[in-house]
Amino acid sequence: MENVKAKKKFGQNFLKDSSILDRIIQSMPNNNNYIVEIGPGLGDLTEKLVKYKDMTAYEVDTDLIGILKSKFAIEMNDGKLKLIHTDVLEAWDKLGSLHDGKYDMIANLPYYIATNIILRAFEDTNCEHIIVMVQKEVAQKFTAKVNQKEYSSLGIIAETLSLYSRILFDVPPESFDPPPKVMSSILCIRKDMNKSIDKSFKDFLKACFTQPRKKLSKNLSSILDKEKISQYYKELDMNDNVRPHEVSSSLYSQLHTKVKNGRNQ
Ligand code: SAM
Repeated sequence: MENVKAKKKFGQNFLKDSSILDRIIQSMPNNNNYIVEIGPGLGDLTEKLVKYKDMTAYEVDTDLIGILKSKFAIEMNDGKLKLIHTDVLEAWDKLGSLHDGKYDMIANLPYYIATNIILRAFEDTNCEHIIVMVQKEVAQKFTAKVNQKEYSSLGIIAETLSLYSRILFDVPPESFDPPPKVMSSILCIRKDMNKSIDKSFKDFLKACFTQPRKKLSKNLSSILDKEKISQYYKELDMNDNVRPHEVSSSLYSQLHTKVKNGRNQ
C-alpha cells in the first residue's frame, strides 16, 4: 500500500485483489451513463473505471485527495476525471444529485454509511444503477424477498423502486488491506426510473418494523387504532397473525394508501 495509514473513521479498507476489481468492471452496464464513484481511496478502482468512461469521484479524506491529484493529473487535466473533495452526504444535501445527468454509481463504499448512501442513491433521480461493495449483511437486506428473515424496510424500498436488485458475488476479507471484520458482497441494483416513494411511506415502514419479530398489528397499533387495523386487514384479506417480514411490498403499498387516505378523511 502507498505510504498512507488506513483511517478507521473513514471506513478505509482498500481493495487490493485486482481480479475482484476486474469483475466489478465486467459487471458495469452497457450504456451511455456517466459514472460516479464514492470514496476512490488510493484510486485502484478509479484507474480502471476512468479507462471506460468520464467520471466524478467524491472523496472526504484530505490526505487521499493529494495522492489522487498526482496519480490522476493527466485524466483530470483532460476532463475525464472530476475529483471532488467533500463528504458525499453533504454534497447530496447541497446539490440534490451527484451529477446533472443520468449516472451509474460504482464504488467500494465506506461501510459505516453504506446503507445511508444507497438510500440516498434511491432518492437521486439521476442515478440509474447502483453497483457497490458493501457488508454482505447489508447486501442481503437490500435483496431480501418476502418471507425471508432478512426482509425489512430496505428490501421493500429496493423492491418498490427497482427493476432488479441482486448480489453478484461475495468478497472475502483477505481481498482488502486492511481486511474488514466482515464478509463483503457486490450489490447490483437497477432502479426503475419511473418510480418514487414519498417520505410518509418510509416512515410507515419504519413503524411497521419497529419490533420485527412481533405481529405486524402490534407495530401498527402505535400509529392506528384497533378498529382501523382490523378493517384494513379484512379489506386486504390479511391474516391477523402476520409478521412484518411476511407481507409483500405491494401489500405494504396498499396498506399505506389506506392509512394515508384514512388520515385525510
Ligand atoms: N475505492 C477504494 C478501494 O476500493 O480501495 C477505497 C474504498 S474504502 C472502503 C472507502 C472510501 O470512502 C475511503 O477512501 C474513504 O476515505 C471514503 N469515504 C469515507 N467516508 C466518506 C464520505 N462521507 N464521503 C466521501 N468519501 C468517503
